[in-house]
Amino acid sequence: MSKQKGWKEIPIGGVIVEAGNAEGYETGSWRTYRPVIDYEKCIHCLQCWIYCPDSAVLVEGGKHVGFDLEHCKGCGICAAECPPKVRAIEMVLESEFAQKEEVLEISNSKFQIPN
Ligand code: SF4
Ligand code: SF4
Repeated sequence: MSKQKGWKEIPIGGVIVEAGNAEGYETGSWRTYRPVIDYEKCIHCLQCWIYCPDSAVLVEGGKHVGFDLEHCKGCGICAAECPPKVRAIEMVLESEFAQKEEVLEISNSKFQIPN
């Protein structure tokens, strides 16, 4: 019978050894839904940027300019927090997109789903 490890021999789990290490993980790879923005509706209030838990809403010059799809995990909080009278973000199934390359372009431009 093999000897079981004692608690002092088991590696420590669930320890965050450095701040901000989430950036090193591509949480976008397990996304089911993708946020897509309609810039004709967006009023750049940045509510989505405030609430995004992954800092995946990209802002430049005080304006929403896109999503960091390597880190967006598709939780939909941005879409839920977009003001009810605006609703500029649509959560779209990943399967709607044929190619990953198209998405970055689409997410940063007017809302449209490829055929
Ligand atoms: S879906 Fe979630 S992770 Fe992605 S941009 Fe919106 S709030 Fe951030
Ligand atoms: S919350 Fe909606 S309106 Fe405000 S910046 Fe985000 S997408 Fe645009």
